[in-house]
Amino acid sequence: MQWCNLRKTDPRMTVLPAPARRTLGNTGITVSPLAWGMWRSDGSPQDVAVCLHAALDAGVDLIDTADIYGWNGQSGFGDVEGKLGEVLRAMPGLRQRMVLATKGGITPPVPYDQSREYMARALDASLNRLGTDVIDLYLIHRPDVLTHPQELARFLDDAVTSGKVRAVGVSNFTVAQVETLSAFLGTPLAATQPEISPLRIEPIDNGEMDQAMRLDLLPMAWSPLGGGRLMQPKTAREKAVAAALDAVAEELGTSRALAAYGWLMAHPAGIVPIVGSQRPARIIEAAAVIEQRWTRTQWYRVFTAARGVPLP
Ligand code: NAP
Repeated sequence: MQWCNLRKTDPRMTVLPAPARRTLGNTGITVSPLAWGMWRSDGSPQDVAVCLHAALDAGVDLIDTADIYGWNGQSGFGDVEGKLGEVLRAMPGLRQRMVLATKGGITPPVPYDQSREYMARALDASLNRLGTDVIDLYLIHRPDVLTHPQELARFLDDAVTSGKVRAVGVSNFTVAQVETLSAFLGTPLAATQPEISPLRIEPIDNGEMDQAMRLDLLPMAWSPLGGGRLMQPKTAREKAVAAALDAVAEELGTSRALAAYGWLMAHPAGIVPIVGSQRPARIIEAAAVIEQRWTRTQWYRVFTAARGVPLP
């Protein structure tokens, strides 16, 4: 039987929907189904420019940074935003080609401050470093449990009404924290950014992805390759997950890294993996993931390996 006929008749071969451009909440802003992240950026502004061009030219237009990126435990707060700002000042046309996401609210060594006064200063400092009038998506990096969510909501609403920010979101928030903050917000949250990968599957069944679908939050997956551990697996579980990805990668004619991105993207919440590589060739290679079509069977094989126990 030919493969295309088999696909019509065998439910194991039913393919999941292809990744498409995603929408940032109700803002009308659309983003690529893959993002590029700058956490590991430690080169020069020229290096940043090369990676940024690689991403944009490959169709990856959601660019993720944070005010703390560059911090080495002693100094460097704001450095990565500063380098990106230098690139954008030198090539102003680039800004229009990207959806720019940054984050604030981590204040080493405090470690967190999300008071209205601090966040207002942090946002202005990010805008200055980035050399832009507006940030497309501003995320609260990690929850500060000492700030009342009503105060944080006030800051986020003001950030949008002042025109400094187009959309707001959170990162590393629990389901309850998202729910509570949302109750105080006039502007609905547009995005959430948890750690998700085939090595960290909790958001898939702890309610986070369900909440993202219910509230129309764009889920951005940080460390989609487990921070690189998926590429050099050490523990028995990591090796089993890598082997499951390799098996599907072979069927799809792709690599383990791209299979990991594709696995995340096949979830109905519209998960956007943030590519963490700072190598232009890997960023370009990653963009080919949009060609992938997973079957349900393939997806559940990886999920089962990630769970480590069979599904009921
Ligand atoms: P990742 O994709 O899980 O890991 C990237 C690492 O894997 C890099 O060191 C990369 O090295 C390595 N790698 C090895 N083989 C690779 C391959 N074939 N393709 C791609 N990478 C390969 O992502 P991450 O860097 O940990 O995180 C991604 C982004 O998520 C960050 O840049 C940041 O924007 C965001 N993030 C957010 C939070 C948060 O709290 N919100 C936390 C962490 C990260 P090379 O660079 O040498 O390719």
